[in-house]
Amino acid sequence: MLITPHSLTGATIAILVPNPVIAIPLSISSHFVLDIIPHWQETLYPYVPTKTTWVRILVDLLLSFFLVSWIIQSHPNISSLIWLTAFTANIPDLDSVASVIPSISKIKLFKKYYDWHNEIQKETSSLIGLIPQITVSALCLLVGKLNL
Ligand SMILES: [Zn+2]
Repeated sequence: MLITPHSLTGATIAILVPNPVIAIPLSISSHFVLDIIPHWQETLYPYVPTKTTWVRILVDLLLSFFLVSWIIQSHPNISSLIWLTAFTANIPDLDSVASVIPSISKIKLFKKYYDWHNEIQKETSSLIGLIPQITVSALCLLVGKLNL
């Protein structure tokens, strides 16, 4: 999935479970659960970044930052944990550095993880794949802003 639904899910986990010992591993785990839900991605395996990819990442990061900041306004007492879990929910995607630094794929353990991460993805280039991401994001905003 994109950065925004992962970040918002991580933020929501911090709100629901404001204990870092539990929230951080949960936010990392949530990443893989979201990745197996069919979703849109502008570049599919082997993930050769295009100009669109860099624009999408910038917009996605800004949107993520804005929405997490918005959620934090309702939960200022746990703002650090919300930022942390919003970040840790995205850690599993840091393996995408392999698309810009291919030599990192020569590290066996990294390659194993990278391949496994690719295998669990249910990606589509069809824009209908945005629906699950918008739905996840909207549900997180409902929990984050309305305390549902
Ligand atoms: Zn991922």
